[in-house]
Amino acid sequence: MAPSGTPLPTPTASAPSTPVVRRITGLKPTGHLHLGNLVGAIRPMVAGQYRTETIVFLADLHALTVSHQPAQIREFTLEQATILLAAGLDPDRALLYVQSQVPQHTELHYLLECATGYGEAHRMIQFREKSAQRDRVRLSLLSYPVLMAADILLHDVHEVPVGEDQSQHLELTRTVATRFNARYGETFIVPRGVLPAVSARVMDLADPTAKMGKTNASGAGTIFLLDPPEVIRRKVLRAVTDPARTVGYDPMRRPGVANLLEILASCLGGSPDVLAADYGSYAQLKNAVAEAVEAMLRPIRLRYTELARDPGYVRRVLADGAERARDNAADTVHRAKRAIGLLSH
Ligand code: AMP
Repeated sequence: MAPSGTPLPTPTASAPSTPVVRRITGLKPTGHLHLGNLVGAIRPMVAGQYRTETIVFLADLHALTVSHQPAQIREFTLEQATILLAAGLDPDRALLYVQSQVPQHTELHYLLECATGYGEAHRMIQFREKSAQRDRVRLSLLSYPVLMAADILLHDVHEVPVGEDQSQHLELTRTVATRFNARYGETFIVPRGVLPAVSARVMDLADPTAKMGKTNASGAGTIFLLDPPEVIRRKVLRAVTDPARTVGYDPMRRPGVANLLEILASCLGGSPDVLAADYGSYAQLKNAVAEAVEAMLRPIRLRYTELARDPGYVRRVLADGAERARDNAADTVHRAKRAIGLLSH
């Protein structure tokens, strides 16, 4: 996610090439956004919009791959879009839209399914893990990475910021695009993944061995971006540490304290091991973290409150984004249909 990420292998094919680097990121509207999303995805995307062509979409179709509440999806989608704008995403620079409002995602998804093996989809670790936790598995959970390939290939992007959990899916995207190009002629840009900086991973405050997430058990260890200041403070003060009582940076043996130092570093800048020397006790460290997180989230929360008073504005931004996305995507789908044999020209 981080702008300073390490590039994976260079793209191998090129359809219409553009001199500017284009990047895409999707956020799934399955819950409230949290500090991990801000540090790992939103901040790098906001910073990146000045250097790259930035495309951001709310992946509501992906949210349907597991059990969901119909009314909540729209609420989470609007809330997430509003937070992105409140955090500084500029709709005049970045393209922001909702996936289901651009039908070319599903149109290309089908064409790519015809270039993907059942075994390839079935081998995906995330499918195996997620399907093992459920009695009933939606077919869309199996084909999720093919829809993800469509999301990416639709926009001729060059770079995709990916965490470790998505790198296998991006590899499938590259495989399917390369195969499609080889079989039917150059159609898609084969994108490269950009790995996040290690410190971009925020861990759960109550269980620092698990990643902070939207759906972690009680939410006690997750700082949601719209949490009121007193809730943020309480969560930080209750963060799990260890019996050592001195502040030191040792992610392997002292993950709780290391997580607090990394959060502090991501708010203030600097490196966690250097910051450790400034604090004599856990109480001091936790107070500093609570203050730094609150100072970082306050302007976002205030701007969110303003924007939320006028949901019509956010909806207009999304409608305008969808229209622009449809225009871009229509070209790609046309190219793919022609290549695969459905259109003559
Ligand atoms: P998710 O909330 O899992 O849909 O993730 C949306 C984006 O936020 C992805 O790009 C993730 O890599 C990023 N992200 C999610 N959780 C964390 C976390 N705990 N630390 C850093 N980045 C995260």
